[in-house]
Amino acid sequence: MKFRIETLTDGQPNPHCPWEDYEKDEVTDLESAKRWARETVDYFNATLRPHEKPRTLGRVKLVKQARGSSQSTKDHAWEKTNLVTVVKGSQAWDEYECSRCGVTAKLHGIGGPIVLDPDYRRAKVYRRCDTAKAHLDKVWWNKARTEA
Ligand SMILES: [Zn+2]
Repeated sequence: MKFRIETLTDGQPNPHCPWEDYEKDEVTDLESAKRWARETVDYFNATLRPHEKPRTLGRVKLVKQARGSSQSTKDHAWEKTNLVTVVKGSQAWDEYECSRCGVTAKLHGIGGPIVLDPDYRRAKVYRRCDTAKAHLDKVWWNKARTEA
């Protein structure tokens, strides 16, 4: 899991980056994060290069991901698919595709809302990424079965 550690030099935190972020499979809770951080700082101090000063371990925090990740499956993960803005007549837009569920959309103008393409606008199921993906997977499987 993700966690961050604070290290101190001469008792002071680094003014430029007080926290260092890590992600380790073997770290599963705060206790194992602290153990990993202590071992890492000990190792750092045991292998100092000439310009480095010994560090002491400050605080250790776990980085909570639950809220961000539930948010991210609900919202589409838009990726722009055109390199340059598409211009037709007086209209200009950028094209987007969701990297998770594959629905497509357009963004007209600058900073406007991303609007689903007509095929996807008709059904409510496409408004959320998780429901769109579940629906499209089902459609795909049904199609694969009838073709087989
Ligand atoms: Zn999506």
